[in-house]
Amino acid sequence: MKSKIKFQSCISKDSVNFLDVTVRISKNRIVTSVYSKPTDAHLYLHKKSCHPHHVIKNIPKGQFIRVRRICSNIEDFNVHAETMKKNFVARGYDPRNLDQVIKIVRKMNRKDLLQDKLRPTKEGNSVLVCTWHPKLRNMSSILKENYNILNADIKLNKIFKERSTVAFRKNRTLGNQLCRNDIKKKKEDQMDEKCTGCKLCRIIGKRDTLINPQNGAKVEVKPGSSCKTIGIIYAVHCKKCKQIYIGHTGESMSKRWSKHKYDIINRPLQNELATHCHKDHDLEKDLEVHILDHGITLLAERERMEDKFICMLQTHQRRLKFRSSSIW
Ligand SMILES: [Zn+2]
Ligand SMILES: [Zn+2]
Repeated sequence: MKSKIKFQSCISKDSVNFLDVTVRISKNRIVTSVYSKPTDAHLYLHKKSCHPHHVIKNIPKGQFIRVRRICSNIEDFNVHAETMKKNFVARGYDPRNLDQVIKIVRKMNRKDLLQDKLRPTKEGNSVLVCTWHPKLRNMSSILKENYNILNADIKLNKIFKERSTVAFRKNRTLGNQLCRNDIKKKKEDQMDEKCTGCKLCRIIGKRDTLINPQNGAKVEVKPGSSCKTIGIIYAVHCKKCKQIYIGHTGESMSKRWSKHKYDIINRPLQNELATHCHKDHDLEKDLEVHILDHGITLLAERERMEDKFICMLQTHQRRLKFRSSSIW
């Protein structure tokens, strides 16, 4: 196995680690306490991180409650809570506050903590969702203080029947800006992207050959494409006038088709297809689209293939090029 993954087997007669729990047998009873891997750096959210105050405030409490739940002995809780406190202090938290939280959590009944909590749902309460910014810190209290203004307005009092709660959605972080978290899909995956049903799909031809009705010239159609397939050579067939136009794009047919539609309606001089279809044509009834070839990422190769199809079908057209001044 060339992988860098290492397997390690741990065998013990009296204890075993599983996820964040150590299970051991003590005096013929099963005892649980907290386990963390030696590599765990305990990098809790830093106290000075640009998060809403309540988020930072609640992290230690949530973590100490987790320890309280896991540790079946209060002695174990004391040991692990002390270690955890040190880790939080290293992340900028105030040791006196942490001591208070530990005191509160120690007094909690472990049995109650192990029960599922049923949260009451506040029905009919509107939620004002804003993207988090430190300047919005007082949003909730400002709303509360000025609720009478909202209530006095005929339109707004219908929306804010009761005092609304403020919720924050996460803003872009430095991490988001410095590294991408959406790994670019592989070409194969993009080609498999399915369409959820669009107007274009209704006019995409399903045959495995395309025949030019003007002269009977025939070409094979490469199977396995959809309106989402990228790097394509396509043919637009006007069934009404028996004309065929060949084009290519590095994008998908659905993207290119919306540009074609825009040109046909608004910029008839943009290309031959737009000129042809601008008047007296019903795009859905009169036109048929065929994806002749696909998965060609290189522009030069697409141009070569486009020329080849124009030659084979003898359409005698100019390329369906878009002018560089195009708004797209
Ligand atoms: Zn589609
Ligand atoms: Zn036509």
